[in-house]
Amino acid sequence: RRFVAGSRFHISRRRSMTAVVLGGSGFLGSHLCDALLARGQDVIAVDDLSTGRLQNIEHLIGNKTFKFIQADISVGLPDLGTPELILNFASPASPPAYLSMPIHTMRTGSLGTMHALELASKTNARFVMASTSEIYGDPLEHPQTETYWGNVNPVGVRSCYDEAKRFAESLTFAYQRERGANTGIVRIFNTYGPRLDPNDGRVVSNFIMAAINDQPLNIYGDGSQTRSLCYVSDLVDGILRMADSNNSGPINLGNPNELTILQLAQRVIDLTHSKSTINFQSALSDDPQQRNPDIALAKTALNWFPATDLDAGLQSTVHWMTTMEHKYDK
Ligand code: UDP
Repeated sequence: RRFVAGSRFHISRRRSMTAVVLGGSGFLGSHLCDALLARGQDVIAVDDLSTGRLQNIEHLIGNKTFKFIQADISVGLPDLGTPELILNFASPASPPAYLSMPIHTMRTGSLGTMHALELASKTNARFVMASTSEIYGDPLEHPQTETYWGNVNPVGVRSCYDEAKRFAESLTFAYQRERGANTGIVRIFNTYGPRLDPNDGRVVSNFIMAAINDQPLNIYGDGSQTRSLCYVSDLVDGILRMADSNNSGPINLGNPNELTILQLAQRVIDLTHSKSTINFQSALSDDPQQRNPDIALAKTALNWFPATDLDAGLQSTVHWMTTMEHKYDK
């Protein structure tokens, strides 16, 4: 789906280019490394390993066209040469992770993004910023279109992530306007799949881990809040389409298939034939009550839409978590 007829020159030019993936050993970053290498690009992954995991890229170590550098991008970038593409996927993404390191989250989204944009503008690299549906906060418009400005509590517990990403979007446009940087912003909605850290506290990993161990699934609040879950390979395809375009965005990337957290819990219990019960706990502060991407723009601008249905995606995630669980620290 990625390459259209008549784009042969485009493909061969892309093949020889170097891509930098900031956050390259994270959930999304590591899948991006795989996809870029698979289409013949050289890849440099940078990660400080604060939430990224070496296990996610260990199969790439020894590959001559792949390099990993451990570095904290908020301090500065290591020597990355003159890449043609920079994907900024460095940030804690799970709410428990960013709530536990709000300063690091803000440093990465702000200073880290600035360092990445400096390199992009100096090398004329295409720059893609991983933004988020959290830009919309607890949205008052539904579904969320890119023209909606959002409803973020600027001093709430989640603001370290939301405002860092909002700043990063603004900074991305500042570098485009003032320095002519070639930038694109994708707003990523909830994504799941293999390599989602089983212990990082996100809903899909929490529910699957609980279900396969016959432990209660903890729902925060009454479970009526909604999310729209996108399978990782679909998302990676959308990100690469953004990388290959000259579109500035922001463009929503996500699966519009919305469900309540209670429905998700029941789905996971059914799929895993689990004996787990559902346990209702107190609601989280500032937890967005509904989230659903309008992806009309991704369809027209990138010819992108998600193809994987929820049951198939959950099955493969369950399979991965069942077989890979032992590789992760508790
Ligand atoms: N959630 C839950 N139980 C869990 C983890 C999350 O009920 O064990 C809820 C959470 O309150 C939120 C939704 O599931 O409404 C999605 O949470 P997640 O941490 O995956 O990401 P978010 O979309 O909030 O960034």
